[in-house]
Amino acid sequence: MATGWEPSMDSLHFLVGREQELRNLIQSPQHWDPVPVACRDVDVNLYHPEDGERPAEDLLAACVACGDRLQCLALALRAEDAETRHGWYGGLGPADRDRIAAMLRLSVETTPLPDRALTAIRLGRDGWRVNDIAHVLGCSRRTVQRYLRSVR
Ligand code: SF4
Repeated sequence: MATGWEPSMDSLHFLVGREQELRNLIQSPQHWDPVPVACRDVDVNLYHPEDGERPAEDLLAACVACGDRLQCLALALRAEDAETRHGWYGGLGPADRDRIAAMLRLSVETTPLPDRALTAIRLGRDGWRVNDIAHVLGCSRRTVQRYLRSVR
């Protein structure tokens, strides 16, 4: 049976046969309980190492075992700017997400949220914690707080 694409790395095998599920999650992120489980109290900066570096292996192992892995990946693919992907979501880094976005033709079929500040504000109004918003947007907590203050 054709799966639509073939993973080029072991890290992408978990997506085989789940492309439509991922696409649905990208298009309907509101169905996800936005409080990540395995990383709830982890410093978000640990998932955003310098370019070319990987997070610690124990963090990535937690992502592989995380029940929210696909939702986490979907929300990143929806919210982030394709030109400036940064950080690790669902245990996958920017290069892997580039590959997935290309395979799903996301640039053609979906429109990323246009503005990071507006996204932060919307998520804040939905009750998201600052740490979780920073995680999804790939920015610091301080930046998120600045966005949220801008509408008070
Ligand atoms: S997959 Fe996402 S939600 Fe789950 S532990 Fe990793 S970063 Fe956190």
